[in-house]
Order: sequence, then C-alpha cells, then structure tokens
Amino acid sequence: MVNVKKDIVCIGGGIMSITLAKLLQEIDPSRNITLYEKLASCAQESTQSINNAGTGHAGYCELNYTPINSHQNVSIHRALKINREFEVSLQFWSFLAKKYQNFKSKSFITQVPHISLVRGEKNISFLKKRYEALSKSILFQGLQFSCDKETIKKWAPLIDVASKDEIAMTKYEFGSDLNFESLSHQMLKILYTNKNFSIHTLHEIKSISQKNDKTWNIKIYNIKTKELILVNAKFIFIGAGGATIHLLQKSNIKNQKGYAGFPVNGEWLICKNPSLTKKHFSKIYGLAGPKAPPMSAPHLDLRIINGKKQLMFGPFASFTFKFLKTGSYLDLVKSINIRNIFPILQVFLSNLNLLSYLIKQSTNSYEDKINMLREFFPLAIKKDWQLVSAGKRVQIIKPYKKIGGKLEFGTEIVWSDDASLAALLGASPGASTSVYSMLTVIEKSLKGKINPKIWKNKIEKMAPSYKQDLDKKPTLFTKARLSTYKTLGFRI
Ligand SMILES: Cc1cc2nc3c(=O)[nH]c(=O)nc-3n(C[C@H](O)[C@H](O)[C@H](O)COP(=O)(O)OP(=O)(O)OC[C@H]3O[C@@H](n4cnc5c(N)ncnc54)[C@H](O)[C@@H]3O)c2cc1C
Repeated sequence: MVNVKKDIVCIGGGIMSITLAKLLQEIDPSRNITLYEKLASCAQESTQSINNAGTGHAGYCELNYTPINSHQNVSIHRALKINREFEVSLQFWSFLAKKYQNFKSKSFITQVPHISLVRGEKNISFLKKRYEALSKSILFQGLQFSCDKETIKKWAPLIDVASKDEIAMTKYEFGSDLNFESLSHQMLKILYTNKNFSIHTLHEIKSISQKNDKTWNIKIYNIKTKELILVNAKFIFIGAGGATIHLLQKSNIKNQKGYAGFPVNGEWLICKNPSLTKKHFSKIYGLAGPKAPPMSAPHLDLRIINGKKQLMFGPFASFTFKFLKTGSYLDLVKSINIRNIFPILQVFLSNLNLLSYLIKQSTNSYEDKINMLREFFPLAIKKDWQLVSAGKRVQIIKPYKKIGGKLEFGTEIVWSDDASLAALLGASPGASTSVYSMLTVIEKSLKGKINPKIWKNKIEKMAPSYKQDLDKKPTLFTKARLSTYKTLGFRI
C-alpha cells in the first residue's frame, strides 16, 4: 500500500469541493490541496448540467421558501437568507471573472427572469401576500405582481391564460440560469495553474479514520491501477454528494450518529421542438402538490447549456434506493445502522403520504407526465418531449432527541468536534449557495491558521457581503449588486 501525507483533502469532484478548493487557493495559495474523484471526470453527478434545474436559487420564484406560518402570515425568513447567501456566490464568481481572463462567466451564468405561477383564489391571495412581504426588503426590490392575463401572456407565452381559472404571477427580471458543471470546470482551469493543487480522478475513497494525533487516515482505491493508497491528511472535506452519508458514517465521528439519507430520484421532460423553446424565456415555478415534497414543485425552465437554449419541465420525483446516479441499489440498506434506525422509522412513519406519493410517481407513465406538463402548457404534445434523468438527491434524516427523527429539505454541514472534518449533506438550495457554505467550512475549520488581516482583506474582495445583514445596508447592497450584475453580463 502506498503511503502519502497531505494537508487538505477534498473528497468528490462536484461544485462543493471545487468551490472550497478555489476559495482556499485564493485565501492562501501556499496551502496544499488534493481532490479525489471516483469518476473519470469531475462534475458528473448532481453538478452535471442536466442533473439539476440550474436555477440560481435566490428566493425570487421558489414558493416553498416562503411557507405560511402559524399566524397565517407568509414567512419570508428563508427566502431572505437564501437571497443573501446567493449574493455571496454572485460576488465570488464576479471576483473570479474580474481577476482571471480565462474564467468565462458567459459559459455558466445567464440572466433569466424568475416567475412564480399560481391559480385559484386561495393561491393568488398567498402569492399577493408573499409579494407584499418580500417587496418590503431591498433584496427583492423590482419584484412585480400581476393577475392581468394580457401581462401574464407577455411574460410567459406558453402558459394557458384562456381557461376561466384566475391566474397570478410574480416576476423578477434579474433571476439567473446556471450551468454548475461548466462553472466547476471554469474553476478547475484556474485551480490547475497552482502547483499546490492536485486532482486524482478514478480514485474512490473507501474508508476514513481519525488517528490519535487528530489527523485522518484515508483509504483510497485507484480504480485504474487497482492499487490501494493510504493518505494521511490534516483536514478533510467530504463533498461526495449523495454518498457523503456513507463516508461520514465510516469516519465514525460522534456528530454523525443518527443521521441517515432519504434518496429521491428525479426526471425531466426536455423539449425537442426548437420553435417552442424559442417562445419561452423564463423559469416558471408553480406550487408543489399537497402530498408532494417541496423539491417536486413543478417548473418550466429556460436552460442555457453549452450555449444552447433548452426547455425543461419537471422534476418528477420518485422513490429510489440509490444515493448516486452511479450508486448501488444497496445504498439505502447499507446506510442503516443501530443509531439511525429509529430516526429512519420515525421519518418513514410520519411521512407515509410522501412515501406513497413517491412510490406512486415511480409508476406514472409518460402520458401521466405529459398531462402534468399540460397543467402548465396545455398545448403540449407527446412527440415534442423526451424524458431524461435528473439525477438523485439525498434528503437529510436528522436525529432529534424528543421526536426521534425528522426529514430536512435543506443543506447542512456536519463537523467533527475538532472541526478537522466537515461534510456537506442535503441538496437545497445546494449549488447556488455553495460559496457561502464553503466559506463557512473555511471559517470554522481552517481560519485559525489564516492571518486575520489576510482573511478580512480577502473576504472584502471576494465576497464583501459575507455574513453582512445586506437588507440593512443599502449602500453596500446597491454597490455589490450593480457591480456583480455588470461583471456577469446582466442587462441593468
Ligand atoms: C433534480 C435536482 C434539481 C436540482 N436543482 C438545483 C437548482 O436548480 N439549483 C441549485 O443550486 N441546486 C440544485 N440542485 C442541487 C445541486 O445539484 C447540488 O446541491 C449540487 O450539485 C451538489 O454538489 P456536490 O458537489 O455536493 O455533489 P455532486 O455534484 O453529486 O458531487 C459529488 C461527487 O463525489 C463523487 N464521489 C462520491 N463518492 C465518492 C467516493 N467514495 N470517492 C470519491 N468520489 C466520490 C461523485 O462521483 C461526484 O462527482 C438540484 C439537485 C437535483 C437532484
């Protein structure tokens, strides 16, 4: 077995690990960073362009980020938080675009309006309340509301306005479509130019264990040479997407006990008819059905993938046993242990509706899916659309002392007590807020080794609004937003 010593090891070559590596390289280029990826190339799981919706999640259109609270008011707390965090991503990408000529923002970000769509009196009243609540924040300045069918027709020509149903929309002009796969490769291009960064594809992490001196031993299988490598690292980030839960369990840290994963399969309908694609120029999010999970809220999306416009509808969520597209049908079973069996049972028993919804969705025919699309776009015909995989997501099952376990729909970072290991679980808002999440990892795990002046200076340059209450700082907000929009090619 080959024995190697490393400083910082990132597991998995998706947007999270790559963003962490790039941020660290900017903060301290002398740090030695090694990334291991089990596939032949990076960004081929959830980060792959077609395996996510490419929505720059900022709370403009996602109705599940603004639930009704116990006082029957629209709670905008989550939408504000995600918006602030997404702003940090925009700032970092804009910083890279200004600094590196070969970092091409056009290849991964396009300004695409974000629209919310609802029908019926009750839902329209909710959308109006949501609009009024959000409009009070400077972050949502410019959000528009309309129930006027002529305006709606202009905003979204494919949407049915002819039916008798009342309809309403909100629209935010400065939404975005992102190609996280391309963004990852843009960052990798710059990472490669520093000799302190190395990447090893076709390397699969098999086990992780902490030594008495608090460093980590990582057993890695070289898929090409069939060789086992033992790497010793001071800090590990587990960014293995759906497989993170397995590796976290192997690390045996105290804080992972009781955690489990709830895998969900996704599919899209992609339009094959370019004349239809041409008529759609926004991302339109509807409401998830009553028993459906929030991530299955249907949306009709303009996507820009490799410079080409695509029209997508979905995602169709269904049950799966796999944690990764390239995973195994034993993934779910293998993740069950004595510590998480009760949280899992608790979650399954208290989410029987969700479970039966997902199982039922698995049996839905192509025709059923086209019918769901017709609720958005009534003139849809089967031959114009093709069903493709949207990858997998693993939602977090989290242990709670009093209730046993709860299903979480967000993302969470789990740390070892000494913060020498960090792992990212969950999928939403996911890639959009990757910069904020990875700055949090650096701050908690590695900031101690960074000169405070350097940290302050770098944050001011790379992400000036990181941990700032932007809504209360209009000058910082206006300056930051105008600057990022200009650099990233938005029409202001
Ligand atoms: C249907 C769907 C729609 C989504 N829509 C959006 C959206 O609109 N906007 C948004 O921001 N986010 C969205 N997301 C979430 C987003 O895709 C994820 O948050 C993000 O891609 C996760 O990146 P990651 O780096 O954590 O994981 P991944 O991209 O999955 O990368 C993990 C990597 O780890 C590797 N790996 C796994 N196990 C090992 C091992 N043992 N050893 C070595 N390597 C390993 C894998 O091969 C993979 O390359 C969506 C997700 C889904 C499924």
